Amino acid sequence: MDVPDTSPVKLRPEIVALPAYRQGKTVEGGFKLSSNENPFPPLDGVLKAAQDAAAVLHRYPNGHAPELSERLAERHGVAPEQVIVGAGSVAVLAQLVIAAAGAGDEVLYSWRSFEAYPLLPVMSGATSVKVPNRPDHGHDLPAMARAITGRTRLIIVCTPNNPTSTIVTETEFAEFMALVPDDLLVILDEAYAEFVTDPNAVRGMPLLARYPNLVVLRTFSKAYGLAGLRIGYGVGPVAVIDAARSASIPLSVTHHAQLAAMASLDQEAELLERVEHIATLRTTIWNGLLAQGWSVPEPQGNFVWLATGEHTEAAAEILLANGIMARPFHPEGIRISIGESESVEKVLTSTQEIVEFLS
Ligand code: PMP
Repeated sequence: MDVPDTSPVKLRPEIVALPAYRQGKTVEGGFKLSSNENPFPPLDGVLKAAQDAAAVLHRYPNGHAPELSERLAERHGVAPEQVIVGAGSVAVLAQLVIAAAGAGDEVLYSWRSFEAYPLLPVMSGATSVKVPNRPDHGHDLPAMARAITGRTRLIIVCTPNNPTSTIVTETEFAEFMALVPDDLLVILDEAYAEFVTDPNAVRGMPLLARYPNLVVLRTFSKAYGLAGLRIGYGVGPVAVIDAARSASIPLSVTHHAQLAAMASLDQEAELLERVEHIATLRTTIWNGLLAQGWSVPEPQGNFVWLATGEHTEAAAEILLANGIMARPFHPEGIRISIGESESVEKVLTSTQEIVEFLS
């Protein structure tokens, strides 16, 4: 249908100018390794829980997910009031940004990182301050601490970092927090925490008791394989969590998502076996890439980072031609999710082809 694409309505120009959130290119019959999804389908018990929710489709959910919040509180050794459940952890992050940073305020994060970070401050009227990653692709926390100004209201630390798969160590984080004033909110985005095997990696939950300005974000989208249901959560100080709750869009966490999340906690052992399997494939891919001569930071999420630089688009086309849908970030590199076992060989033959193309 031919519809006009203009309107006399006055809109916020900064919102109009925002690029749409990108999802990767798809090819029929290929391996979808572009969104850090879990390659395994839902477990039967999880599927059944989501199906059971269909019986109450005519009712609104309790958007605060009280039963799930209690389960999560117990699991992390905090009070239920310290837990906020949202329609994906990105929704919780958006609420925290709205709660902490408005017009004239700054939101600080390392870059390159999760693509939603630059969008959220724009929506709340705040300004992004991006501190470049170190040459080894990890966060430069001392530089982030130096970038704090009187206007900084929120700092996001992403570990493992999407898309570079690098972690922040416990020591680096402790040194960083010693430099951050305690009235400045720090968010540790741990969307990929379950995939971490490095014993030196920071783990946010045990630190909540130490820092009155820390919120830890987790999601059911990745390790628990519920990306399509949209459910994630944050844990932190009651006053901060309350403010984030006030900034929520009411009733956005569905019955289906809440019941499937609880069923996932019931079947956690099986889900974590899948995580272990994915981590094993990650090691195979990482070793294969190193053997091909790539310099790849040790991956700790369910994805690896190929620093293809200015050749990123050409390299992504080679992957695509081999049926590998990955996520290019021109001109820095390509993020390849760890997917089905059958995709491993395909990934490595494609990356070898890229090596030959570049030489
Ligand atoms: N944080 C990071 C670092 C991510 O990579 C993602 C998803 N790509 C999210 C948060 C959001 O996950 P969700 O909203 O599905 O919980």
